[in-house]
Amino acid sequence: MNKCIFCQQIKAEQILSETEHFMVIFDINPVQDGHLLIVSKKHYMDIREMPDEVLFDLVKLEKILVSKIAETFATDGVTIAANNGSIMDEGTHCHVHVIPRYKNDGFWDNQKVVQHENDILKLKAALQLK
Ligand SMILES: [Zn+2]
Repeated sequence: MNKCIFCQQIKAEQILSETEHFMVIFDINPVQDGHLLIVSKKHYMDIREMPDEVLFDLVKLEKILVSKIAETFATDGVTIAANNGSIMDEGTHCHVHVIPRYKNDGFWDNQKVVQHENDILKLKAALQLK
């Protein structure tokens, strides 16, 4: 049985807006007032599983949400962030954070990341798209 909270536990009254492929809810643990989540209606675990038409729906929705936040709050901008694969919390699926931002909010200052020695030249070579 699928125990994904996004598949099983989102109630209709939580949905603020929706498209054919996505719904918008408030993050239950917001880093800023107005922190939204875009949640796919299907159980995608990774952006690579999404057909192009679904991805286009996502980007259009992101554009709308950025506009609505800019119209509603006196923000300096919006950060959009998505996790893919097993880095996500267990019992969830692909979702996108849409976070109202302010220049003095210290958003990136609070990131403490354990560094890994990745071969960035290998990545640079992989990014030579044909
Ligand atoms: Zn799910």
